[in-house]
Amino acid sequence: MTEIKRRRPGGGRKVTNTLANMEGILRKKTIVDPETDCWLWQGAKNRKGYGHILMDGRTENVQRISAMLYLGLKEDQSYRHVLHRCPSKGCWNPEHLYLGDNFDNWADRKEDKNK
Ligand SMILES: [Zn+2]
Repeated sequence: MTEIKRRRPGGGRKVTNTLANMEGILRKKTIVDPETDCWLWQGAKNRKGYGHILMDGRTENVQRISAMLYLGLKEDQSYRHVLHRCPSKGCWNPEHLYLGDNFDNWADRKEDKNK
């Protein structure tokens, strides 16, 4: 994956989003649906409707960040998919998410840091 670097319009101030401060950043741009309890991301979304935000100089999906914060996903586990139980693609409520492994890539992964 190529690293995407973007300049913020009008910003000389350098702000680095890290996983540690990401929860507060995400919550500021989120509306909770009172009926479904979905945490609906109001920030940038990709063409498929999944929310994304810049973190550590790269674009990361908000549901992946949620999984890192609440579900134990590691940042380097790109072979693990974060899937929705609810129909809202912009939702990042960890109770609506679950981790799935990409079996196509499973055999290709270079290392398993747990071993
Ligand atoms: Zn949801």
